[in-house]
Amino acid sequence: MPRAMGVPFPCGARPLMPADHTAVSNVIPRDAHNVSRRDISPNALRVLYRLREAGFGAYLVGGAVRDLLIGGHPKDFDVATDATPEQVRGLFRNCRLIGRRFRLAHVVFGREIIEVATFRANTDDADVQTHEVAAVARDNVFGSIEDDAIRRDFTANALYYSIGDFSIRDDVGGFEDVRNRLLRLIGDPERRYREDPVRMLRAIRLAAKLDFEIEAATAEPIQRLAPLLRDAAPARLFEECLKLFLSGHAVQSFLGLERWKLFDVLFPEAAVALHSNRSGALRRMLLKGLADTDARIAADEPASPAFLFAMLLWPAYCRALARLESDGIQTAEAQQRAADRVTLHQMDSIALPRRFSLPMQEIWLLQARFSQRQRRRVFRLLSHPRFRAAFDFLVLRLTASDEHQADVDFWREAQQHPDMAVAALEASQAEEIKGDRPKRRRRRRPDAQDGMPP
Ligand code: ATP
Ligand code: MG
Repeated sequence: MPRAMGVPFPCGARPLMPADHTAVSNVIPRDAHNVSRRDISPNALRVLYRLREAGFGAYLVGGAVRDLLIGGHPKDFDVATDATPEQVRGLFRNCRLIGRRFRLAHVVFGREIIEVATFRANTDDADVQTHEVAAVARDNVFGSIEDDAIRRDFTANALYYSIGDFSIRDDVGGFEDVRNRLLRLIGDPERRYREDPVRMLRAIRLAAKLDFEIEAATAEPIQRLAPLLRDAAPARLFEECLKLFLSGHAVQSFLGLERWKLFDVLFPEAAVALHSNRSGALRRMLLKGLADTDARIAADEPASPAFLFAMLLWPAYCRALARLESDGIQTAEAQQRAADRVTLHQMDSIALPRRFSLPMQEIWLLQARFSQRQRRRVFRLLSHPRFRAAFDFLVLRLTASDEHQADVDFWREAQQHPDMAVAALEASQAEEIKGDRPKRRRRRRPDAQDGMPP
């Protein structure tokens, strides 16, 4: 098999290097780093060796090298090579090509997929896009390994572990940055954020996940450029949100988004509601919910996007509901309208699929039913498919207000012994009617100012 030589750039459209970038090619030999083949997935090693045997360059790259350097366990292993996608396909029976704009090879081993990407150049560069050949150049522009390094986002993500001599190639100073636990954008930060605003979210997410600092020049433009995220594709933002909040570091992600004012852009109505909740109860509740989510992920328990978004948007729902009720709209109607309105407005920024938005709304709407305790209603609610999630949500609401303690106690008992719980309830209701006991205190109406829950 012939070795793939540098694939020419179509129409000679070579991307420009970011203004302040100076390539400092540096090779860290095997004895100067801790990345070991023992920690690399055997399937990724198979792919790397096969490419190398065929005469191609073969490197482990991206998050995997970064994670191994800090002693972590990568969740996936990506490979970069100078073989074209077709050449990669020629080497593996279990390979399919994906992607329209840039073709990638997926080598499939049961549930594990090793993604193999041909070195490519950054054609999202603003200068190239204004060039008349941009439309052609944007697709399938292969490049050198240096081009491939500088088109990546952070220096820590642009390290290449060679299967040839087990060294790490570093063109951007990433090795030093990983050692100092610093997240630094490659090139001019403002320009790189303008190219792809989602990189702002990636900065927050990776800093949260890796416990890295965001380097000062990389952090500086974020707050200023945050509104650019409004133009990002809502479906991509949904995916990014799942990574931010369902990967085991939701609390840190939230604090990062809040600190750099990105939460306000992603969840505008929830942000306004949190700001106007002067007691801070809604923020406490959200933080507790996110901490519970992190604990579930750490224990390998499932965490659902519906419950996550129910928590994130609850402040917005409470505020919308309080407003509708203060306009005199009757409770049940107001609840449904508030749920619909909040969901619809949120869709402007984040495309929440219906299979998640519907159960999210059910979690909200069921909250009001926990205080309705007639026998028939109790059994109906217990058998509701969303009961468990809604009950967990009710428990979470205790963080914001202990008003719901009696409901939580009742429904906890009702799940264990439904007949006994209902019988005890009916007995106490009978006593109340006889006037032996003081009537239960009337619930406080939601306070429209504070936006507290119903
Ligand atoms: P994680 O461990 O969370 O998967 P990751 O860094 O591997 O983090 P991926 O989304 O899997 O993130 O991306 C793989 C690699 O692709 C990154 O390490 C980075 O080099 C590059 N990359 C991803 N997104 C971008 C982007 N928006 N701009 C430039 N490079 C990117
Ligand atoms: Mg990855």
